[in-house]
Amino acid sequence: MCSAGGRLMTKLYDKISQALRDNEGVLRIGKLKDAVDYQKSVDSFRRELKAWTEADSCPIRFEVSGYIAYGDTDFSEWSKKHRGRGKLTDYTVLRVWSRAGGQCQFPGCTKDLTEDPLTKSVGNFAQIAHIVAASPDGPRGCEDLSQRLGDKFENLMLLCYPHHRLIDTDVDQYSVEVLNDMKRRHEDRLDAFLASTDAYETHMVLISGVIRGQPTRIVQAEAARALSPRFANNRVLEVDLTNALPEETDDLYWRSGAEILKKRLRQALEPRPNERLDHLSVFALAAIPLLVLAGRLIGDKRRAELYQNQRDLNSWSWFEEVESADTTIELVRPETIAKDRTAVLALSFSQDVDIDQVRATVGGDIDLYVMRAAEPSYNWLKHRVQLDAFRKKYLQIQDELERKYGKTRTLHVFAAVPAPVAIEIGRSLHPKVAPELVVYDYIDGLYVRGLVIPKDISSVP
Ligand SMILES: [Zn+2]
Ligand SMILES: [Zn+2]
Repeated sequence: MCSAGGRLMTKLYDKISQALRDNEGVLRIGKLKDAVDYQKSVDSFRRELKAWTEADSCPIRFEVSGYIAYGDTDFSEWSKKHRGRGKLTDYTVLRVWSRAGGQCQFPGCTKDLTEDPLTKSVGNFAQIAHIVAASPDGPRGCEDLSQRLGDKFENLMLLCYPHHRLIDTDVDQYSVEVLNDMKRRHEDRLDAFLASTDAYETHMVLISGVIRGQPTRIVQAEAARALSPRFANNRVLEVDLTNALPEETDDLYWRSGAEILKKRLRQALEPRPNERLDHLSVFALAAIPLLVLAGRLIGDKRRAELYQNQRDLNSWSWFEEVESADTTIELVRPETIAKDRTAVLALSFSQDVDIDQVRATVGGDIDLYVMRAAEPSYNWLKHRVQLDAFRKKYLQIQDELERKYGKTRTLHVFAAVPAPVAIEIGRSLHPKVAPELVVYDYIDGLYVRGLVIPKDISSVP
């Protein structure tokens, strides 16, 4: 990249990269008398650098006495090569911006960081500041914390340049605790403001049933926490099946279970006068066959968001760091298919479905489809994106079955899955292409035939 540069430029280059490393990508070029003077220096410096690098434009950000100028090309790409640390991911940057509402998070500043405070020209005038510096010898840095927090969202604040400089200069006053508090308060204020409007209304649907003989209980306050702060003004629609179901695990159990579920869900989803139930938030703990039916009854015409109970955490909140989400879903198809064989779908997500047991339960020749998480575990489902990935794959299989077997097919489903996945199966059943489902339950180490969900069952209007 360097052709015309002599020794002077080589020295300059070294100085620039050093300055960029030391100063989080901002290049200080000395004290100047005024802004005009500054602009002239920047322009000439930029010309020199352009000649030297042969780049179309100089991507360096210049800063003198609180003024910042931006280059025309992607600075972060350029700086990546010259700086010692990793670049923030687009997602992290987006999250810092959105959680800050585009404002400087220093108390009372409220500066809009999308325009220059002096000239009002539009641009990116924000600094993403580290609470604990990403390098141990930066502001508030230390060997352990810098390594651990680094470029994580929790460690980043959106600040205007003067406030970034202030917190990095006076690290005694602006300690880690003070800055964490600053960030949290600013985010909470924004959340509270958004929650105070009734624009995002949802209705909580709580479905509690019996799992392996044990009644389940959904703590309403825990569920409500998962909705905050996005949603407010919720009506709670409870479908409690815990006392309603007979104890037998025979055919009667499932048939009456289905009837009760249908009745209760219809009652719950009956809108009151002047009310529209067009957004539901579903929290459910019940046997798999009933959950699939619940999904079918809720349908996919209405918008519904499903939540997973994170048992270890007593929480229904989705995990936010999507980078770590395991969305890999393996799909194994039968080697050959035959229309007279029984089509079986095994879903191994909470644990591995025992295929030998499946064969023994169904009997005869089967065409076996398997969908499986890379590492099945009862806490596999942590992120919304995993549920999206599942739905996509499931719809794909449903289409495939219809093409291969025609419309009259019955599909036997053995599902070791978290509740939202079971509901999603039900919601994905499109009367035109969906097969009739026979959904099994797993009780005391055995698979038992649960519900038959016919093709023509319709959702609750
Ligand atoms: Zn900083
Ligand atoms: Zn500020």
